[in-house]
Amino acid sequence: MENNAVYDVVIVGGGPAGLAAGLYCQRAAVRTVLFEKGLIGGQIAISKEVENYPGIEGITGFDLAEKLLHHAKGFGLQIVQEEVVSIQVGRDLHSVQLANGDLYRTTALILAAGGSVRKLGIPGEAEYLGSGVSYCATCDGFFFRDKTVVVVGGGDTAAEEAVYLSKLAKKVYLVHRRDSLRAKMVLQNRLRAEPRIEPVWNTVVRTIEGNGREVERVMIENSISGEMKSLAAEGVFIFIGYDPNRVVVPPEVRTNELGFVVTDEKCETNVPGIFASGDLRQKFANQIVIAAGDGAVAALAASRYVESRKTRKTIP
Ligand code: NAP
Repeated sequence: MENNAVYDVVIVGGGPAGLAAGLYCQRAAVRTVLFEKGLIGGQIAISKEVENYPGIEGITGFDLAEKLLHHAKGFGLQIVQEEVVSIQVGRDLHSVQLANGDLYRTTALILAAGGSVRKLGIPGEAEYLGSGVSYCATCDGFFFRDKTVVVVGGGDTAAEEAVYLSKLAKKVYLVHRRDSLRAKMVLQNRLRAEPRIEPVWNTVVRTIEGNGREVERVMIENSISGEMKSLAAEGVFIFIGYDPNRVVVPPEVRTNELGFVVTDEKCETNVPGIFASGDLRQKFANQIVIAAGDGAVAALAASRYVESRKTRKTIP
C-alpha cells in the first residue's frame, strides 16, 4: 500500500493516450505512475483489426496494446491496476484517490481515461462484437466492402459514418428511431446524395442475429405500427452517442456541454498542472494515432510544468 506517495506525474488511463504519455514522461525522467482500472490498451484491446496506425500495416487491437505497453514498460513506466475514484485539485499538489483506499499526490496529472460508446443493449450486440457489430466505421468499414450494413442512429456521427460506409458497402440501411435526423443539414444533404443509403424511419433494432460466427440479419420493429421485420445485413454499425469518462474529471476542470475536457494546444486544461489527452479531450476526431499523439504532447507539457515548479521552489 502506497499511502500518500508523491509523484511528479500521475496518468489516469492505460489506453494509447496514457501509455504514450507514460513513455514520454519516462524519457523526460519525471517520476510517473499510471493507473488503469481495466484492460491495458483501453478500447483498442477489444478491436479485432487495426489497419490505420502509421507504420504498422495490420495488427489486432490486442497486439497493438501489448506493443504500447511493452514499449512504455521498457522505459520503466510504473503501472498500477487500480481504479481512480476521485481527484482533488490542490494548490501545489493534486490528490488522486484510489478505490482500494490509497491516496497519491502529484504535481501534474494527465487525464487519459477516454470514455465509452453508448450501446443498444440488445441480444446479439455483445455476442457479435468484432464479428459484424462495430462502433467505428473508420476501423472496421473496410471489412464490409460490397456487403450490406445497417447503421443505427440519427446524429452527426451516424450520418457521417453512413456516408463513409456507402463508399465501401454495396448497401447501407440507416435505421433511425424517429422520422427526422438530428444530424446537421449539411450532413443530411450528403446522405441524401448517396444512392446506396436507404433510410429506415421510425424503426428500432430489436435483435442482431447470425450463425454464431457472423452477423446475418437484424430484427427491426416499426415504432408506430409495431410491425416486426427481418433485414439481411452482414454488418451493424451503432452510432448512438459517446460518453466521456467524467468520474476522473474534477469539477474545477472546464468541459464542453457534452462532458469532454477543454484544453489548449499543450493539452493543458484551465487548471494548472492538469492535462487531458485522447478521447476524453474535446477535439476534431478520435483515432488511436491521435490519442497517442495527444499523450505525447500532454507528457512533454506536463514534464515542462513539473520542471518549472521545481525550479520555482529552489529560488530563495
Ligand atoms: P448524438 O448527437 O447524441 O446522436 C445520437 C443519435 O442516436 C440520435 O439520433 C439519437 O436519436 C440516437 N439514439 C440515442 N440512443 C438511442 C437508442 N437507444 N436507440 C436508437 N437510437 C438512439 O451523438 P453523435 O451523433 O455521436 O454526436 C455526438 C456529438 O458530436 C454531437 O454534438 C455532434 O454534433 C458531434 N459530432 C459532430 C460532427 C461534425 O460536426 N462533423 C461529427 C460527429 C459528431 P434521437 O435523435 O431520437 O435522440
